[in-house]
Amino acid sequence: MTSPLLPVFARTDLSFEKGEGAWLYGRDGERYLDFGAGIAVNALGHAHPHLVQALTEQASKVWHTSNLFQIPEGERLAQRLVDNTFADVVFFSNSGAEANEAAIKMARKYHAVNGHPERFRIVTFEGAFHGRTLATIAAGGQAKYLEGFGPKVEGFDQVPVEDLDALKAVIGPETAALMIEPIQGEGGIRTVSNAFLRELRALCDSHGLLLIFDEIQTGVGRTGKLFAYEWTGVTPDIMSVAKGIGGGFPLGACLATAEAAKGMTAGTHGTTFGGNPLAMAVGNAVLDVILAPGFLKEVERKGLLLKQRLAELKDRHPGVIDEVRGQGLMMGLRTVVPNTDFIAAARAEKLLVIGAGDNVARLLPPLIISDAEISDAVNRIEAACAALEAGQKTTAQQGASQ
Ligand SMILES: *Cc1c(COP(=O)(O)O)cnc(C)c1O
Repeated sequence: MTSPLLPVFARTDLSFEKGEGAWLYGRDGERYLDFGAGIAVNALGHAHPHLVQALTEQASKVWHTSNLFQIPEGERLAQRLVDNTFADVVFFSNSGAEANEAAIKMARKYHAVNGHPERFRIVTFEGAFHGRTLATIAAGGQAKYLEGFGPKVEGFDQVPVEDLDALKAVIGPETAALMIEPIQGEGGIRTVSNAFLRELRALCDSHGLLLIFDEIQTGVGRTGKLFAYEWTGVTPDIMSVAKGIGGGFPLGACLATAEAAKGMTAGTHGTTFGGNPLAMAVGNAVLDVILAPGFLKEVERKGLLLKQRLAELKDRHPGVIDEVRGQGLMMGLRTVVPNTDFIAAARAEKLLVIGAGDNVARLLPPLIISDAEISDAVNRIEAACAALEAGQKTTAQQGASQ
C-alpha cells in the first residue's frame, strides 16, 4: 500500500491504539513494553493521569493566544525551570531543533551586542545530533543529513570529542561558542567525560566563549538529575531542552543566563506556537511529578538497577552484547550483531528499544518504570539474546555443512 506521507521515515510495520504507563497496546492485539518512550519523550509513560488531567483541563479553557499576550502558565513554568537550574531566562519552542536554533542565535547575538559580530562560529563535536533544520544539520555535521540540501550553513566547526588539542586548534577570533551533548544520544549513548567538559568550561572562560549544552535528550530527569550537567560539575551558559519536558506534547525550551541572553531583546526572535497555554499546562504537570520529593532519586536508583542487570546480561551473552553504556534511564547496549537485528529480536519479545549510532540499541524507558517492569524487560532482552544466539548457531551449522 502506498502512503500519502512523505516517506522520510523507515517505519516499522506496527501501530498502537493506546498506551498505559510503560505499556503500548498494538493494533496487532499485542502488548509491548515500551523502552523507547517515543525517543525519550514520554518521560512519565503513556496516559499519565496527572498529565491527562492537566491537558484536558487546559483544553477546555484556552489553547492558544499567541505571544502577543501574557501567558501566566508559561511564566510559571519558566520560573520553575529557573529556580531549579543555572538559568535566569527561558524561551519556549515546539521542538528540540528550534530550541537549538534559539541557542545558536543567542550565542551569535551575544557577541554581536558585545561589539564582535565577527564572532559567530560555533564548535561542535563528532557524533553530535542537534536536529534537522538547516542550522542544526550544519551543527551536527553528519554528511548523511547534509547531502543534497545546498551549501552547509556557515559557522560550524567540528572536532572529535575528548580531543583537546583539536579543540584548541579550531578556536579562533571568530569563535562564539562551544556546543555539546553531555551524553550523545543519537550518536550512541556516548558519555563525555567530566574532565573534558571541565576543559570546555575553562576554554570558554579564558576565550570569552559561551558554553551551550544540548540537553534535549539527557534532560528532564532522564539521567537521574533534572539535567545531566548537574552530574558534571560544569555549568553551561545556554542549554536546550525538549523531548521529555512535554511528556509527549511538543515542547522545547532554551534556557540561559541573563548575561548570555542579553542580546535577545524584543523583536530579535520569536515563535507563533511556542509556549502556548496548552503546552505550558502540560510542561508544568510534567514538572509537578519530576520535581516531587524523591522522584529523581528513584530514577537514579532504577537506573543503577537496570545497568547492573544489563551488565549481567552482557556477561551471559558476549556474542550479542558488547558494551553497556549510559547513565540513569538513558542506557545503550552496543551489540555484536547488527543493532537492527537486536532491535527486531527484542520486538519479537514485545519489547520496544531504539537504534542509535555506533551499533547501539538505546533503552529509554519512561521514568515511572517499576522494578518489576525492569526485570520484565531484562527477561525479554535475555530471550532476544537467546534467539539471536540460536540463529547464529544455525547459520554456523549451515556454513559448516556447505
Ligand atoms: C532529538 C534531539 C534533537 C532534535 O529535537 P527535535 O525535537 O527532533 O527537533 C536535538 N538534539 C538532541 C540531543 C536530540 O536528542
